[in-house]
Amino acid sequence: MELGGSDMAITKIRKICVVGAGTMGHQIALQCALHNYEVHLVDISKEALEMAEERIGRILEERAGLGDVSRASMQEVLSRIRCDTDLEKAARDADFVIEAVSEDVEVKRRVFSQLDRVCPSHAILATNSSSIKSSLLADATKRPDKVVNMHFLLPVWDRPLVEVMGSTNTAEESIRITVELGKSIGMTPVVVKGEATGYIFNRLWRAIKKEALYIVENGYASVEDVDRAFMIGIPAPGGPFMGMDMVGLDVILAIEEQWYKESQDESDKPPNILLEKVRKRELGVKTGKGFYQYPNPSFKKPGWLKRDIEKT
Ligand code: NAD
Repeated sequence: MELGGSDMAITKIRKICVVGAGTMGHQIALQCALHNYEVHLVDISKEALEMAEERIGRILEERAGLGDVSRASMQEVLSRIRCDTDLEKAARDADFVIEAVSEDVEVKRRVFSQLDRVCPSHAILATNSSSIKSSLLADATKRPDKVVNMHFLLPVWDRPLVEVMGSTNTAEESIRITVELGKSIGMTPVVVKGEATGYIFNRLWRAIKKEALYIVENGYASVEDVDRAFMIGIPAPGGPFMGMDMVGLDVILAIEEQWYKESQDESDKPPNILLEKVRKRELGVKTGKGFYQYPNPSFKKPGWLKRDIEKT
């Protein structure tokens, strides 16, 4: 199939390659498969892929239990996801790629360059990066008009927002297709005009994270009280420290480092409290300990937060 010019249509996207099978990648892959796309999920780590398969099975079971997914369709959904460690094999017939590898510009640039070499010329290459603009990746490819940011939140199905953002080189057509793809997998897309590190939601979330870390680092309040104040004050089902633990403190640190790298503003320097957590490998839900210990019975948490934390 050739896409391009007037031929470019969302209905022609059949195969999606998701690169990176970690916290985000497996969820994005599942969301696409639930909406009838064929998905190739690729990771350099065999263990990450095994864990992704296990997590996907567990999520499907849970959602079937909640009546979100029919039991009869579970096998079909699973059969639409193929896992591989070979990027070339996984991406060579992809119509659309969603990259969700580690938050590191150099790692992402290598992946984009590799994708550019192996993907069909019509394929759009999207990054789910939290803080890396597509303009920092586009020139690693020969298709800067088809490189775009497509940013999901965790958990994908309970917070169905997707932020779409292009660089000055991104074609309007690529933005349009990305928005349409987002809608077709049950997301609400919002388009950022121009390029702003952190999109819309992540800029708001970053201001909250930064203040929360500042308050605790300077001894003004405990982690628990900051979360309590936030949950009651907004009101919200979880507080900023619970949110950071869910995302992964290594990912939070990488995001903060990227912001600092761009701004060179001392106030953007990652705080010691965060550096210390990552140094001790207390990365949050994924390692069983972050700002909280998991499972964490200290708050009564509704909905997605409760389900995710209890499963860990
Ligand atoms: P993660 O560390 O859980 O997973 C990253 C995965 O990428 C790992 O499994 C790793 O093996 C794999 N990987 C690394 N290099 C690779 C390569 N060259 N080829 C293939 N796979 C490779 O990270 P995550 O939390 O899933 O974050 C991934 C991306 O999504 C980051 O850019 C992050 O900013 C963004 N993001 C994360 C969240 C979140 O809540 N965690 C939310 C939105 C966006």
